[in-house]
Amino acid sequence: DPGLYIVATPIGNLGDITMRAVDVLRGVEAVACEDTRVTGKLMHHLGFKTRLIRYDDHAGEGDRERLLALMAEHPVALVSDAGTPLISDPGYRLVREARDRGIAVTSLPGPSAAVVGMTLSGLPNDRFLFAGFFPNKAKAREDVLAELRSVRATLIFYETAPRLEAALTAIATHLPGREVSVARELTKKFEECRTGLPEDIAAHYAVHPPKGEIVLMIAPPSDAPDEALDVDALLRSELE
Ligand code: SAM
Repeated sequence: DPGLYIVATPIGNLGDITMRAVDVLRGVEAVACEDTRVTGKLMHHLGFKTRLIRYDDHAGEGDRERLLALMAEHPVALVSDAGTPLISDPGYRLVREARDRGIAVTSLPGPSAAVVGMTLSGLPNDRFLFAGFFPNKAKAREDVLAELRSVRATLIFYETAPRLEAALTAIATHLPGREVSVARELTKKFEECRTGLPEDIAAHYAVHPPKGEIVLMIAPPSDAPDEALDVDALLRSELE
């Protein structure tokens, strides 16, 4: 059927593609993707060749219009280089426009590094807040940590290896005593996940410089669960 199919793809291990994703990517009229080489490789691995159209949210109006016109008549898939489209990846504007025009939109679930990292971290997961890429500049790092320090949830960020040390130092400075978790190369051969105080994790990576892609998580404030219980107890006693 015509419409937009948002399709999650693997974040490393190609075995993580779903059967439904394979069927849809094979069957659609075209696949909109960030990088035709990256998605071309995935298709080569899967053994078929669907037409690829490069797309990102910074594409001109004309490009988006053509894509929207196509999906009004035919099924069109949207993928990103890895993981779930729209999660720190392009697609938001396309989905917004498609919905506004009454084009059918559906989403095929699959891996997203944020969720994979969080499940692995050993940090509380009853509440979590995904905050996108950890900022690159010192002032912006400080601001985001000030903004989120009192949020009673595990904080999840995307990070890159060359910036990890600065990120850990910023957390140790601005949120002292809070545990972090670093999940690296998820679903790949050298997958690892380390949880502990940021200064200890930083000391490890000073000796073993990290490579690859990283999910960086920060534990909730340690008083969070008790505080929540206290508030409940207080409210109950007030009501009795
Ligand atoms: N849309 C993707 C998703 O759903 O996971 C995320 C895209 S974002 C542009 C890329 C970032 O995701 C990387 O810088 C890294 O922080 C994280 N990431 C992607 N794959 C990863 C992996 N295999 N292990 C750890 N982090 C990963």
